[in-house]
Amino acid sequence: MIQLPKELLKAIKAGNVRKFYKSAIWQAVRKQVLIRDNYECQKCKEKGRYSKANCVHHIKHLREFPLLALVLSNLISLCNACHNQEHPEKLKKYRAGQKEYITEERW
Ligand SMILES: [Zn+2]
Ligand SMILES: [Zn+2]
Repeated sequence: MIQLPKELLKAIKAGNVRKFYKSAIWQAVRKQVLIRDNYECQKCKEKGRYSKANCVHHIKHLREFPLLALVLSNLISLCNACHNQEHPEKLKKYRAGQKEYITEERW
């Protein structure tokens, strides 16, 4: 298991998830997950469809479970449409008038 550096754990707990998503260690783990999942959205795959994965999602959300940030079994490749469904809270914000909807997990 890959250890989450203490400074990143601190940043997540402080709400600074950008710092985490921009870290080299996340980029490396993210890539591992995409390769494991063949760059395919795993939710679409379940339904027998093919979509290219655009992001790697934390099944147990990062902010609530920072200790699972780099645990491969907590990570899944998803397309944007499926990813949005996993984050109704972000969608609500978007509908409320945010101009651009860019998910942090795409980084
Ligand atoms: Zn999908
Ligand atoms: Zn997500």
